[in-house]
Amino acid sequence: MTSDEDIEKPSEESVFTCRQCGECCIGYGGTYITQKDIERISTHIGVDPNDFVEQFCCHSGGRPVLAQKDDGHCIFWDKVCTIHPVKPVMCRKWPYIESLLVDFENWKIMASMCPGMNREASPRIVMARVKKKNSSTES
Ligand code: SF4
Ligand code: SF4
Repeated sequence: MTSDEDIEKPSEESVFTCRQCGECCIGYGGTYITQKDIERISTHIGVDPNDFVEQFCCHSGGRPVLAQKDDGHCIFWDKVCTIHPVKPVMCRKWPYIESLLVDFENWKIMASMCPGMNREASPRIVMARVKKKNSSTES
């Protein structure tokens, strides 16, 4: 029988290790932001939260997402994430996003774009981490 302790035994490296490549910070319109994200980032960069969406966002599916620079990178990318301490909850949860609980096939799709993810990681381990991450990450 497998205990929770066993679930935690595989090293993080065997499931996900960020390579700092920035591939997830480029491409159209994926980074949704919450109201709390807006407040945190606005405070961090010293802009009025009421102006934040207009200055730093565009919309996708009726929701604000971080805007992109001409080269396709996130507006806050400059060789590294320039708002790392307050980056959106969606970025903080990566790759342990809730949709994996609905369809684990998303892990392989995501892994094809993110070199830090182990495509063959055990669904059981990933699911456990998704649940843990989403219960511990403030929205
Ligand atoms: S694509 Fe994956 S490995 Fe690259 S920076 Fe993003 S999370 Fe890290
Ligand atoms: S906020 Fe930071 S981590 Fe998130 S997409 Fe933009 S540059 Fe990448």
